[in-house]
Amino acid sequence: MSPLVMNAPPATFHVADLWRGTWMGPSIVRRGGATLHYVGPAPSALPADVIPIPGVLLPGFCDHHTHLQLLPADARTQLLAGGLSRVIDLGGDPDTLAVLAEPDPFGVAVEFAGAFLTAPGGYPSDRAWAPAGSVREVASADDAELAVAEQGAAGASRIKVALHGDAGPTWSDDLLADVVAEARAAGLPVVAHVEGVGQAERAIAAGVDVLSHTPFSEVLPEALVARAVAQGQRWVSTLAIHDPVENAAERAAALANLRAFRTAGGEVLYGSDLGNGEQPLGVHRDELVALAEAGLDETAVLRALVGGFGRGRWKKRLTWMPERPGAIAELTGAVSVAVGDLEDVGA
Ligand SMILES: [Zn+2]
Repeated sequence: MSPLVMNAPPATFHVADLWRGTWMGPSIVRRGGATLHYVGPAPSALPADVIPIPGVLLPGFCDHHTHLQLLPADARTQLLAGGLSRVIDLGGDPDTLAVLAEPDPFGVAVEFAGAFLTAPGGYPSDRAWAPAGSVREVASADDAELAVAEQGAAGASRIKVALHGDAGPTWSDDLLADVVAEARAAGLPVVAHVEGVGQAERAIAAGVDVLSHTPFSEVLPEALVARAVAQGQRWVSTLAIHDPVENAAERAAALANLRAFRTAGGEVLYGSDLGNGEQPLGVHRDELVALAEAGLDETAVLRALVGGFGRGRWKKRLTWMPERPGAIAELTGAVSVAVGDLEDVGA
């Protein structure tokens, strides 16, 4: 860690606006260690020790679906300028990711799932883009225990499973249940890639924690969406991976499903599948616009970007913007700043 991040002196700052679930107006915040604490609304006369900083602050933004191995080597640094403070890698070689995810004060924070766990011969074992070591075929319950342990030993914070019914075999419901049970026993949530008619239903029935894409192979029945919401399942958006012309049907299904999921109270996580196709290194305008099209307002989009219904993370890295965004697409103007560098923000 840089000395600045670890040893930034305590300080109190004034900002014109700050978002913590809602816009708070002119605010006072206090830095203690690498955490920024909300103090309260700014008084009309600022005490002499308060440091005014330009712009507005929000919790750090996260892309909940990325593939770091498919990005340029300096992507972690570039992603900061693109507005991301944290990324979740959802499929790659666990040993490579363990190195890529080492703490770096000059790069985006990384959490990862490790390899795709899949049926023998299942998706994405047949894909040219899948790096060596990024697919772990699982053939039995014992094998599931070993495969989960391998990812955990490398430092994975979640387990990725592939249920793609249109690209090779998938596990039986029993083996899927075994994989989920092994991940639970290891204390790791399960993130599923579902594709093909009926696969979302299987993942929901198995109690998977997160879907890595809004389901796009079919419009799900209302009762199934309600079941996913009731069990606290979260969906990563990835709406913009569907080309409006070439994949119009998938895009329409994903938009309809996400709209229904939102209406039922489901928790959406911002995710772009960064590394898959041509995308900007940062918050992706097309994904923001698609989220708005699915009915998410500014508050909902910000919640999806900071993760969780809470007020987001105010540790180590934050989001800075020159001013409060006037439209959802303007969130592409965000940059990630270290809590220890707040004195220099906007300079
Ligand atoms: Zn992906």
